[in-house]
Amino acid sequence: GFEHQDQPNKAQRPRYDSTPSSVAQHYNERPDVGAVKRKESKIIRLRSFNNWVKSVLIHRYVRPNQNVFDMGCGKGGDLIKWAKARIHHLVAADIADVSLEQMQSRYKTLRDRSFTAEFYAMDCYQELIAPKLRPDLQFDTVSMQFCLHYAFENEKKARIMLQNVSSRLRSGGMFIGTMPDSNWIVKRVRQEPPRSFGFGNSIYSITFDDIQDTDDDRKKIGFSTYGCKYMFHLVDAVDCPEYLVHWPTFERLAGEYGLKLKFKENFHDFYTSASKEEEHSRLLSRIGVIGGQAPEMTEEEWEAAGIYLAFAFEKK
Ligand code: SAM
Repeated sequence: GFEHQDQPNKAQRPRYDSTPSSVAQHYNERPDVGAVKRKESKIIRLRSFNNWVKSVLIHRYVRPNQNVFDMGCGKGGDLIKWAKARIHHLVAADIADVSLEQMQSRYKTLRDRSFTAEFYAMDCYQELIAPKLRPDLQFDTVSMQFCLHYAFENEKKARIMLQNVSSRLRSGGMFIGTMPDSNWIVKRVRQEPPRSFGFGNSIYSITFDDIQDTDDDRKKIGFSTYGCKYMFHLVDAVDCPEYLVHWPTFERLAGEYGLKLKFKENFHDFYTSASKEEEHSRLLSRIGVIGGQAPEMTEEEWEAAGIYLAFAFEKK
């Protein structure tokens, strides 16, 4: 449970308010530790697993010569995936300007730089990207990896985010991504003993700090459509406020922007189904995640993997 002594001490953790600049600040302050240091991390296999999920999504939906928009691209963790997918052009945007600069220099040193790219440091949930782009540029794919949930602070942000997804996405184009699975989080917090508003293990924790100390309040978690805030801590990775994405609200809103749900799966089920496909399971063993039936992660990493889901929408 939440009171477990392995839990990071809540009081000692840095606190961030939910203004966009603090999200940018948080990600900007994450040092670019480089490949060597990353390999020493406690969540090295979880990271590989998350990368595998993204690779499978890209492999399924992205075709050579496409134009791609990577919204919330961060430090460019997916640059090599875009190169391998042999895309034609990449538009990359993130609110964290330092992260974006790191991505730009990574792009310049990319061995297989077969695609062109343009970069925008901007708040994609408060500002439109279309006026910044060549008027005739259309996307075949829009990708949002582990970043969409920050838009669920309020409806206005969620709408601007979806307008950025949709306005230049061609008819038949795909919108793919990964984000926390609210259903799973809500189910999980309700399993906790009375008066506990969080859960986790030695590598992650999720706490609903704004919830008052009554069980009635806990029952309300998961019903509000926007602004349901929790603190997310992942060792060596994240420590900042996030928002539950109320799925029915998200799917309905996406529909208003011409996006139709094609696929949605929690990472645990995603593992089961995608690892049955031969080429994807080969990739899994190549990146060192599996060596048999179950993923070769610690149980705690595997539990943390279950926080997330993968999705794909098609533009009408
Ligand atoms: N997509 C990258 C990946 O998969 O490696 C980065 C994921 S990181 C967990 C979340 C990213 O979302 C951060 O780089 C953060 O700066 C970005 N982000 C959060 N709010 C944003 C906003 N309003 N506009 C653009 N980017 C945002």
